[in-house]
Amino acid sequence: MARVYNFSAGPAVLPEEVLKQAAAELYEYGTTGQSVMEMSHRSKEYEAIIHECEALFRAVMSIPDNYKVLFLQGGASLQFGMVPQNLMLSGKADYAVTGQFSKKAYAEAKKFGTAVQIASSAEQNFSRIPAESEFAYSKDADYVHVCFNNTIYGTKFPFIPNTGDIPLVADMSSCILSEPIDVSRFGLIYAGAQKNIGPAGLTVVIIREDLIGKAPEGTPTMLDYKTYAENESMYNTPPTYAIYICKLVLEWIQGKGGLAGMQKHNQAKAALLYDFLDSSKLFKAPAEKGSRSMMNVTFVTGDEELDKKFVSEAKAKGFINIKGHRSVGGMRASIYNAMPMEGVEKLVAFMKEFEAANA
Ligand code: PMP
Repeated sequence: MARVYNFSAGPAVLPEEVLKQAAAELYEYGTTGQSVMEMSHRSKEYEAIIHECEALFRAVMSIPDNYKVLFLQGGASLQFGMVPQNLMLSGKADYAVTGQFSKKAYAEAKKFGTAVQIASSAEQNFSRIPAESEFAYSKDADYVHVCFNNTIYGTKFPFIPNTGDIPLVADMSSCILSEPIDVSRFGLIYAGAQKNIGPAGLTVVIIREDLIGKAPEGTPTMLDYKTYAENESMYNTPPTYAIYICKLVLEWIQGKGGLAGMQKHNQAKAALLYDFLDSSKLFKAPAEKGSRSMMNVTFVTGDEELDKKFVSEAKAKGFINIKGHRSVGGMRASIYNAMPMEGVEKLVAFMKEFEAANA
């Protein structure tokens, strides 16, 4: 069987080694006589898996001891509501609006209190991240929320906002584990798993301990971070198989030199693609230099029909899911950790061929 090069923004490509190991262990995990999918989450075999997964997260991301790593469900979208439910205590929070998902998070926060838009790049069609000097921080916000990597527009924060004593909350769904990051600069980081962590169905929350346990009375049990923190993410049944795959992915990352290794690998892939786009006569990258994502590379020809032709010819050659998000059109190559260099080299070679035939 020939595997395609899958440039999907998520669910996305997983490392081949991980898929093979999961396949080998699918029917029987170790000598347990059962699949991980069939295991009680209270069994000692499964407890070992979830504990190891958390330990690996801590090791790989160098997470300080005063942070909890929580495994939840509900996607990153549930966090749009859980963050204000748990952290908007005085009723005010700051939001930088840099794309569709931060816009959704901002809209959700308004249901809980005063959400203040402190910066936006909507007028530039989200092609850039506003400079920090443009951030009009409220002095009395409960937290500041940013979407660190904008999956749809292909932009990423080139800086970590300086929020002083006000906790910084970041949606890192599409850039977590792609490079080293100083977790101590954040109060809370959340990410849906289906891009760089593992399969859909798992959401990871990394939260500073002092932010836990402040949710107002009446908060539903499953919407309170405390429930997860006090029960090692096993108050109820966690997404057991997704956590197991996440553990395999983290082991794979460790074997590749950890986040420093991932960063080198990801920088090389992104540079290849952006260098070509910047020199191309046919394609161009709408994301501004200095705000560009290393994970989601967006590009257009400027002609919708030609974009369609590109997407369809690319698909026939085995480069799938290269169509841009339905809200923006054009193309997008998501090149998460598991996308091999070879996939990007072959894509660029195909883009050159397409350019020669269509320019
Ligand atoms: N935030 C970002 C940055 C995303 O890319 C996505 C999904 N593509 C979401 C939030 C929403 O995630 P979910 O589908 O897990 O709710």
